[in-house]
Amino acid sequence: MLYLGCHLSSSKGFLHMGKTALSIGANTFQFFTRNPRGSKAKDLDPADAAALLSLMREHGFSQIVAHAPYTLNACSAAPETREFAEQTMADDLARLECLPGALYNFHPGSHVGQGEEEGVRLIADLLNRILRPEQQTIVLLETMAGKGSEVGRSFGELRAILDRVELRDKLGVCLDTCHVHDAGYDIVNDLDGVLREFDSVIGLSRLRAVHLNDSKNPRGSRKDRHEKIGRGEIGLPALARVVRHPLLQGLPFCLETPNELPGYAAEIALLRGLYAGEEASEIPAER
Ligand code: FE
Ligand code: FE
Ligand code: ZN
Repeated sequence: MLYLGCHLSSSKGFLHMGKTALSIGANTFQFFTRNPRGSKAKDLDPADAAALLSLMREHGFSQIVAHAPYTLNACSAAPETREFAEQTMADDLARLECLPGALYNFHPGSHVGQGEEEGVRLIADLLNRILRPEQQTIVLLETMAGKGSEVGRSFGELRAILDRVELRDKLGVCLDTCHVHDAGYDIVNDLDGVLREFDSVIGLSRLRAVHLNDSKNPRGSRKDRHEKIGRGEIGLPALARVVRHPLLQGLPFCLETPNELPGYAAEIALLRGLYAGEEASEIPAER
């Protein structure tokens, strides 16, 4: 079973996202827990969340991914910025309890010159303060492109964070294909080797979600500019190998490509066709 979806706007609530996902052939999706620029989260409607859960059950959705605002920085040099990240993430996790089984993905942070070791320490300390034994949500560290001073561009850095967190069973990793490519991992020519390295450094059992994106830039560029599927430096055949890889079956795959809904629908249809074994023929026409 291929669980495939995309990033959706949460402005009209949970059930609306579920219906939108269905309308574009998705059986999973991702959404921001709040406006990435602003800080205020809308009041959450438990009935709306329950309606989404029943729609998901009815239509065989996989877990869905809630994404923390990407403006948070858990390892900022400024204590008030770290405090803000902590409050926001703790609040998100409390609210996500109405969506049992959701995944909560966040960008580990940027160490802004303090060094990656200090970054790792600050991120792990924050997680140790907000994770709860009774929470139902798994928190995912996203693999990062290594833009600026981003922590998490190597599997080793993510492993170092995991090692310092006490409630490690509440943690997982989300692999972003654009980010790992930009960070230097060769998923185009050696996907098997990259997954082997992931397994030996982090453990594939920690891999809980995939962000499926092409990249505007060459491998190792550390840029983080997503491209439409098949139009970038990773390319369609390599991305098709990702969704078809035996070790990645059953994970939720979320597109975060520069698209509106019709573009996402076309990418989902394309990838479902390739998953089912159609020839990796042509890159779709510009849309
Ligand atoms: Fe992200
Ligand atoms: Fe991503
Ligand atoms: Zn990105």
